[in-house]
Amino acid sequence: MLLTITTTHRPATDLGYLLHKNPARVQTFAQTFGKAHVFYPQADAERCTAALLLDVDPIGLVRGRGRGRGGLLMDYVNDRPYVASSFMSVAIARVYGSALGGRSKERPELVDVPLPLTATVAALPCRGGEEMLRRLFEPLEYAVSIQCADDHASSHYRNLRLEARKPLAELLAHLYVLIPVLDDAKHYWVGDDEVDKLVQHGGSWLGVHPERQLIAKRYLKYQPSLADLAIARLAEGEQDDAEPALADAAEATGTEDDLERPVRLQEARMAAVVHALQDCGAARVVDLGCGEGRLIRELVPHYQFREIVGLDASPARLEAAARRLKIEGGGKDHDRVRLLQGALTYRDRRIKGFDAAAAVEVIEHLDPARLSAFERAVFQFARPKTMVVTTPNVEYNVKFPGLPAGSFRHRDHRFEWTRAEFAAWGERIAGAHGYEVAFHGVGEAEPDLGAPTQMAVFQQCA
Ligand code: SAH
Repeated sequence: MLLTITTTHRPATDLGYLLHKNPARVQTFAQTFGKAHVFYPQADAERCTAALLLDVDPIGLVRGRGRGRGGLLMDYVNDRPYVASSFMSVAIARVYGSALGGRSKERPELVDVPLPLTATVAALPCRGGEEMLRRLFEPLEYAVSIQCADDHASSHYRNLRLEARKPLAELLAHLYVLIPVLDDAKHYWVGDDEVDKLVQHGGSWLGVHPERQLIAKRYLKYQPSLADLAIARLAEGEQDDAEPALADAAEATGTEDDLERPVRLQEARMAAVVHALQDCGAARVVDLGCGEGRLIRELVPHYQFREIVGLDASPARLEAAARRLKIEGGGKDHDRVRLLQGALTYRDRRIKGFDAAAAVEVIEHLDPARLSAFERAVFQFARPKTMVVTTPNVEYNVKFPGLPAGSFRHRDHRFEWTRAEFAAWGERIAGAHGYEVAFHGVGEAEPDLGAPTQMAVFQQCA
């Protein structure tokens, strides 16, 4: 298993400082799966190549594992020793950890600088073939070249060569995440900390990668709940909820009222949702995608709501909600309010059977392909008696002067619907799951465009 990284940056030997590995020596690092060696086939001022060679011990890998499995021959005879697999990611993190984290003691000024880099990975197993390699790496702006790794026509191993001008940490993060995506073997446990690693290393680029769903799903070994959590968390950095300013406000005479209009839309939305939840007589409510707890804060003063639960994918937002609601401080209402971390696109017992649920400005953050998972998780499984959904009315967007025609109100929005599209979605869901639905506009409506926010209230049929 071999990864080489080459630069022609001058002086090219700076690569040694960035990787924290001295070009003059071969260095060996013990790993749980064998050994990792770092050496430099070439290191001069014009060109410098660092090689990371993994020496996987297939017998060591199975030693002490599963007594009673009877030492299957296949445990010993496998492709692990020579193909690039998630062991390569483990080694990148351990051996090139500082570089991956964007730290360099001796060349800190180079850490963020795009450098001319070439990486080669030998014998990469590629499920999905060459096209998959291109779908993963080309959106990240690499020149990709691919060669068969052996003579078998049916072999799915490829030698990969990537070329780009990028900070070294970015290249390492791409390899760290994408090599295991190409390898199907399940030889390490995937737990919540893998979500943390994916979010940490996928941070700035994975959230906008066109194949982010596939990457998260494969990286997390097909555990959909984890993949959805990761996707939602990757988007989190980009959500500031700011509403674009309204046209009228910008053109107005500058009265306070006009300037406050965008804020008032936020308030009008919360008031409309609180009303809908009061009207249905709910005592137990759950706020799905509660964010920083804006709705919950409006619900708390109403003692009709005996139990208020907020669920969100983002730990950072839940922490902000806990602070805002002073839950940890043992405020007088803390026993009525609970916050849960979870993915809305996954069945979750904790939100089952509530009197009412709300998803305020949430559905437009879900990939259209995951919307049916949301539909099943909420309308088929959780089945609140009343469900309130709000989402932008895209027809109204022309009233936001700062918003270029055709763009959405927020970078993380995956879609925004017309009133007809929202109505078609709501009516189909109501019909399919035994609900009745009514639609309302929220905020000041324009004759032809409708109101800025649209709201659907679903009631379970008796
Ligand atoms: N309802 C809140 C926040 C809206 S922003 C308000 O009106 O203020 C959208 C929220 O949905 C974010 O907090 C985001 O973390 C959450 N979210 C997005 N996708 C999610 C998913 N798949 N599962 C759970 N929460 C998700």
